[in-house]
Amino acid sequence: MPSLTGTADLSPGAARAKGLYVETYGCQMNLADSELIVGALARHGYTAVAAPEDADVVLLNTCAIREHAEQRVAQRVRQLIAGRRDDRRVRVGLAGCMAQHHRERLLELIPGLDFVVGPDGYRRLGELLEGDEPAADVQLDRRETYEDIAPARGEGMRAWLTIMRGCDRFCTFCVVPFVRGRERSLPASVLEDEARRIAALGMKEVVLLGQTVNAYRHDDVDFGELLRRIAAVDGIERVRYTSPHPADMSDSDIAAMKECPEVMPYVHLPVQSGSDRMLAAMDRGHTIDEYRALVARMREAMPDLAFSTDIIVGYPGETEEDFEKTSALMEEVGFDHAFMFKYSAREGTRAFKIDETVGEQDKGRRLTRLIEEQEARAARVHRTLVGSVSRVLVESNAKRQADWLAGKNEHFKTVVFEPHGAAIGDIVAVRIESSSSHTLRGVQIES
Ligand code: SAM
Ligand code: SF4
Repeated sequence: MPSLTGTADLSPGAARAKGLYVETYGCQMNLADSELIVGALARHGYTAVAAPEDADVVLLNTCAIREHAEQRVAQRVRQLIAGRRDDRRVRVGLAGCMAQHHRERLLELIPGLDFVVGPDGYRRLGELLEGDEPAADVQLDRRETYEDIAPARGEGMRAWLTIMRGCDRFCTFCVVPFVRGRERSLPASVLEDEARRIAALGMKEVVLLGQTVNAYRHDDVDFGELLRRIAAVDGIERVRYTSPHPADMSDSDIAAMKECPEVMPYVHLPVQSGSDRMLAAMDRGHTIDEYRALVARMREAMPDLAFSTDIIVGYPGETEEDFEKTSALMEEVGFDHAFMFKYSAREGTRAFKIDETVGEQDKGRRLTRLIEEQEARAARVHRTLVGSVSRVLVESNAKRQADWLAGKNEHFKTVVFEPHGAAIGDIVAVRIESSSSHTLRGVQIES
């Protein structure tokens, strides 16, 4: 399901509040960008609303990473255009990566669409909405970081904090560098201020975001140093980050993780394939042995570290032997979690020009097998946790048992538990009593 972005304050002196409805698709960067869009449009008198029927502007913040993601959005936006009220002028538009990928073409392809805005155009979106004609702003800007725009943060204990934008890696399959532009980092002082603002809102966990988040560098501050600085902000009790690139992980990053108890012992480290041949074809910039060595180095520094990953099956040229290597690597590393995808050819990328060699059926079979193996692995890992104690940041009531609470532990696993004095926002110790492949269940043992 897409995510909805919460409420925003109106800037002082703003005229009649205009309703802004935002639906977010794709990764956490998009969730963070939606908060930024709401923040940017608050300056123009817009306030977030929870339903499209109440909106003057309906905006879908989109993903372009796979064709399927785009198809879903195209369907949804047509539905929203068809369903809009005709007693007032409601603008419907597309923002984000799909908007940037297809640019002005979308205005022709989707009748009734009013605006198209790419990831670097949010600062100018208020002006774009003032015009009467359908319009697009798809200018990429290698300096745009939005460092002066405060995001309208949602509710909850976890805040997204974009520390860098864009990507310079150009993996052969990936559309991100084309739709999000070149890599750029925000000043550390701006990020520290924002972390203080997050803490003042009562949020306890910050997730640092970037497409290659550990490539962060601004002046002489590298990613490791930034981790230390954010971890040192009063009131921020947990720091996470996503997604690091294996080839960018430095000793300084690992040392910072090890030394800062606020930085959680969990890392999402995309590998894509277990075959050197495939990694080279994808131009990922590292070998499997280098990935193994990195995992070993990080585990040596932090024996309790949990890993998750991203996998693509069916990249052009992937043989059964390559695929078996992926399956074997996943078992060898013992990932706690994995996002697994069928390769989807994206126009504009280098791989788009390569003929596909793996049919839809084989891609489906390989994906299903990896998912089944991963589910079994996760269930196994979770069983070993029965009897152990997790520290859980309490985020909500449990869905199925209203008098129980739910939250995430250090390893970002969902823990549902019987409370003994805990409230939302607390970090409490929970003894794990049972498990499934997705959830741990337990009882609070101390406050
Ligand atoms: N920057 C991150 C990295 O390099 O690990 C990943 C960013 S991308 C938004 C998230 C994941 O989508 C990738 O790790 C990859 O597994 C998947 N992905 C990207 N392009 C894809 C494509 N063309 N087909 C299938 N999966 C894709
Ligand atoms: Fe895409 Fe590769 Fe950049 Fe990740 S590192 S965003 S997969 S080009």
